Amino acid sequence: MFVHRAPVVLPVIKPPISDGAVVTENGMIVAVGPYARLRSLGKTVEYDNSVLLPALVNCHIHLELSQLAELGRQNPHHGDMPVWISELLDARQKTVPDDGRAARLALDDMYTQGVALVADIGNMPGSKEIGQGHPVQVDFYLEMLGFAHRSAVNAMAKMRESLCDCTSHAPYSNHPDLLIAAKQRARSRNRIFSIHVAESQAEIDFLRDGNGLFRSFIEQRGFWDGSFVPPGCGAIDYLDRLGLIDEHTLCVHCVYVSDKEIALLANHHAKVCLCPGSNQFLGVGKAPVEKMIEAGIAPGLGTDSLASNPRLSIWEEMRIMRENYPSVSPAKILAMATINGAQCLGNHEIGCLAPGRRAGIIAVNAKGLKAENAEDFLTSFGHNISVDWVKEAR
Ligand SMILES: [Zn+2]
Repeated sequence: MFVHRAPVVLPVIKPPISDGAVVTENGMIVAVGPYARLRSLGKTVEYDNSVLLPALVNCHIHLELSQLAELGRQNPHHGDMPVWISELLDARQKTVPDDGRAARLALDDMYTQGVALVADIGNMPGSKEIGQGHPVQVDFYLEMLGFAHRSAVNAMAKMRESLCDCTSHAPYSNHPDLLIAAKQRARSRNRIFSIHVAESQAEIDFLRDGNGLFRSFIEQRGFWDGSFVPPGCGAIDYLDRLGLIDEHTLCVHCVYVSDKEIALLANHHAKVCLCPGSNQFLGVGKAPVEKMIEAGIAPGLGTDSLASNPRLSIWEEMRIMRENYPSVSPAKILAMATINGAQCLGNHEIGCLAPGRRAGIIAVNAKGLKAENAEDFLTSFGHNISVDWVKEAR
C-alpha cells in the first residue's frame, strides 16, 4: 500500500485535512485521514507544497467540435443563440474533418488539468473512437437532431441501428416523438439522457408561442413543416409533460428555469449541468444557481465545446462560478467539479476521496496553503493552475 501524504488533503465529501494522507492499493482508495493515523499502513510518498483532491469531471463537452475552436476565440455573442448555431453549422460544412486530431489534443489538455471523466456529445458516429484508450474516461453519446417529423423518423431509424448510447440535442431541434424515443432508449439501456435545455431566452420564446428567433432560424434552414405544436410553457415543464424528467436525465444549461421548474427538477431528482463559461461567451445569461442549491439540486459543471468557450477548463468554470455567484461557498463549487459531476453522469467510482473509490487523485501545487483556505484557493485560481496526477508506482 502507498500512503500519499500532503500538507492538505481535500476529500470533498468531508472537511479539508491538515497534514493528511490518502492510502491506496491496486488503484483503489483504502483510507483517508490524518497522516499520523495512517502512516503505518504502507510506504509514504510525500507531496510537499501540494493539496490532494479527487480528479475533476466535465459533464458536458463536444470533442468533435474542437477543430472549430476559432469560433470560441471570436468576440463573445450577445444572447443570439440562433446566429451562433448558424455560424457553427456553416463552419462545420466548410471545415474538412481532421480525423479527430484537435479533439485528442483537447482531451490531452483536459488530462493535464486533472480531469478523469467527461461526457462527450457528438453527431458523427466516428466520434465515439476519439476517447478510446485515453487516460481520461470518455462516455460518448450520439446526439440526435430532427425537428421536422420526417427528419425525426429518420433519426429514430438511425438510433435503432446505432450501437452507441444516444441522446437528444434540444427541445427546439428535436420533434417531440424523437425526444420521447431517445429518452426511452436511454432508459432501456440504463444510461443518462443528456439534453441542452433552457439555454436561451429565444428557446423559451419559441416554446411559448412557436415564434421568435428560433422560428426564423428553423424556417430559414428548411426544417419547419408545421407539425410542431408550441406547448406554451417553459422548457423543463415541456420535457416533463413528455415524461422526460427523471433522476437519469441530465439537463444541461438550465439558465431560463422558473421557480416551479426548479422544484420540479428537485422533486424528480433530475441532474443539472451548469456551463457558466459557455453561457458567458454566448451572452445568454446566468442560471439561478442559488435557487437550485436551495431546492436541494447538486449541479455538475461542463465546459461545452471550444466553439462556445475559449477554454476547456473546469478550473476556469469554477472561477467563473465564484465570480458570478459570490454567495455560493467554494466548497459547494468544488463539489460541482467533482462529486456532483460524477453523480450527474451516474458514476460512483470517482468524484471524492473515500475508501472504495477509484484512486483518481490529483495534486495541485500550492505552497504554504492552509487547509481552511484550500477550497477558496482551488476555486478561484483558474486555468493556469499546476496539476500532477498521483500515481502509485513512483
Ligand atoms: Zn453543448
